Amino acid sequence: MRLLKEVFNILFPDLCVICENPLTINEDLVCTYCRVDLPFTNFSSEANNIAEKTFYGRIKLEAVTSLLFYRKKGKAQRLIHQLKYKNQQKIGALTALILAEEMKNSPRFDNLDGVIIVPMHPKKERIRGYNQVTVFGKTLAKELCIPYIENVLIKSSTSTSQTIKSRFQRFQDFEGKFHLENLTTLENKHILLVDDVITTGATLESCAIELLKTKNLKISIATIAYTD
Ligand SMILES: [Zn+2]
Repeated sequence: MRLLKEVFNILFPDLCVICENPLTINEDLVCTYCRVDLPFTNFSSEANNIAEKTFYGRIKLEAVTSLLFYRKKGKAQRLIHQLKYKNQQKIGALTALILAEEMKNSPRFDNLDGVIIVPMHPKKERIRGYNQVTVFGKTLAKELCIPYIENVLIKSSTSTSQTIKSRFQRFQDFEGKFHLENLTTLENKHILLVDDVITTGATLESCAIELLKTKNLKISIATIAYTD
């Protein structure tokens, strides 16, 4: 069976999602060269890291971490692109496994009670077929042994009264509005809010503002990448 697999692999090798070189039979998704060369941030153990500072003066957070630095034409950009547009959802699982290990080794992420991902508008999710953050969030929850919480933070639909707004304004509203359902679910909890990339932090900020309407809620953030 293994021989058959090896022959098949020689004829039709899987390619590294970053450099597109053929993977060996012991490699999965990312080749060894690319894996050791990933731009790790090591934010998980670093208090007051630059990702955290992005949110200073905007929202109160407990801790923020991102696995990788996102740079133009860099390896993280390539990974996110494959995850977002090429249905390579295993990238979410792989990055979550590595990040969860980091987080488990840092006291900054003790006492988390659940994972919530930044929701996508249902219409957009239907078109893409998936939310690129789901697998990342679910794997983090599983590895950290905490619940994955769904149907609480909801992406709001645009209302009909917005027809007079400019297209840009409507786009902004569409991107940035969230609301909460099942309000009491999160009371007194420490939630890990999860997204793919921190760029300006605006989306995460909108989500956090909504979440913080809950009584005695604490929020930490984890993402695959941080744009520096
Ligand atoms: Zn590679």
